[in-house]
Amino acid sequence: MAEIVVLGAGLGGTLAAFEILPTLRKEDRLTVIGQGRTFHFVPSNPWIAVGWRDRQDIEVDLDNVMARRRIRFVSTGAERLHPAENRIDLTDGSSLGYDYLVIATGPELAFDEVPGLGPDGFTHSICHIDHAVKAKEAFDRFLAKPGPIIVGAAQGASCFGPAYEFALILDTELRRRRIRDQVPMTFVTAEPYIGHLGLDGVGDTKSLLESELRNRHIKWITNARILGVEAGSMSVEELTDDGQIRRTHALPFAYSMILPAFRGVAALRGAEGLVNPRGFVVVDAYQRNPTFPNVFAVGVCVAIAPTGPTPVPVGVPKTGFMIESMVTATAENLRCLLRGRPAHSQATWNAVCLADFGDGGVAFVAQPQIPPRNVNWSSKGRWVHWAKIGFERYFMNKIRVGRKQPFYEKLLLDQLNIRLIKSRPDVVAAPVGQD
Ligand SMILES: Cc1cc2nc3c(=O)[nH]c(=O)nc-3n(C[C@H](O)[C@H](O)[C@H](O)COP(=O)(O)OP(=O)(O)OC[C@H]3O[C@@H](n4cnc5c(N)ncnc54)[C@H](O)[C@@H]3O)c2cc1C
Repeated sequence: MAEIVVLGAGLGGTLAAFEILPTLRKEDRLTVIGQGRTFHFVPSNPWIAVGWRDRQDIEVDLDNVMARRRIRFVSTGAERLHPAENRIDLTDGSSLGYDYLVIATGPELAFDEVPGLGPDGFTHSICHIDHAVKAKEAFDRFLAKPGPIIVGAAQGASCFGPAYEFALILDTELRRRRIRDQVPMTFVTAEPYIGHLGLDGVGDTKSLLESELRNRHIKWITNARILGVEAGSMSVEELTDDGQIRRTHALPFAYSMILPAFRGVAALRGAEGLVNPRGFVVVDAYQRNPTFPNVFAVGVCVAIAPTGPTPVPVGVPKTGFMIESMVTATAENLRCLLRGRPAHSQATWNAVCLADFGDGGVAFVAQPQIPPRNVNWSSKGRWVHWAKIGFERYFMNKIRVGRKQPFYEKLLLDQLNIRLIKSRPDVVAAPVGQD
């Protein structure tokens, strides 16, 4: 008998539990450790922050979902992982042992690395559903008294797509409300150029996103290091390509959303042999930690080296379909190890991303992630908006129904989605949340 534990019940952890379950032998036991009882679909947070989705649209009660599958679910959260002892301390003082562990703890949001950054400071965030709900409340207050907006991603950030997405969603929403003319917008990013995305660009993302920002009168500052934020003012250092200070900006704002740098969660940080200095889990080609080969990791908690040096540090994004491929490889490798065979399955680690702007969007595929690539494709159009709705339904359905959705089903769902929207053109013109 083997005890298999999945630590973290977000996108990666929940999918991992569902994919691992059918690979187990009768005598094995699967436990999922979450932090709270609710799953929420992070990629829909930008829609929450402008009221295009309500909280309940993207939340799932995990107690129910796990119980239906007879997966043991512990919602107390982990205090500390002891990989050398195959043991996890939980926050209620108890302890859980394992034979195999899959870490899927996502990121810790490093707001504290920039004074005044984050929902406890002066900027908003869409990284967690609680933050997105708070950002929506602030957006409602902003609508009564519009002013300048700053959106972007801080130094060390690795998740740039949602920053572009949010800037362009805000632009769409403000135009729909006919108050865009009262709102100067600035995009502030650690990226060396617009459309770098932590991937040194994909296809023509530089031109596509520059042109999108230009067309919508959104100014930008790249190579940006945010020095600090105070009420209504952001201090930003703009660097040259060789890392010198080109200019310091004092940017006024009435509303701001800045994505922070990520690091590994506290329960893992400093675990020798397991994590890198930022607390991300080091894995080999089979998603296994080289020091503790009974420990796997999937999702944002995995350490991936940056594509190359940049004047301001930027990380590499980990996106939904990439996470899914890590999960599939992990489940297959566990199946083999449990039956005395070696691990052989490798994740594709391809970056596939859909950035929705409400009335259009940009999509890209990078295969492999690091250039030069075999597939280096980007495109834009209204279809991306529909595809993003399909993406949300695909994953939400997977979590709710708890099974791998066959590709034909996904295709059918997307087609239905498109047909629904075509038959109701008002849906495209209206907020997505009303579809
Ligand atoms: C705003 C935003 C928008 C995004 N949009 C897209 C998109 O459109 N398309 C795309 O492909 N990707 C997108 N991503 C990237 C990625 O798909 C998501 O971040 C995804 O949620 C990552 O999954 P994960 O499982 O690694 O982390 P998470 O979903 O964050 O899950 C981690 C889980 O671990 C739990 N946890 C942490 N510490 C502990 C502990 N000590 N004990 C127990 N549990 C713990 C957390 O509570 C959380 O539930 C987006 C990311 C962000 C931040």
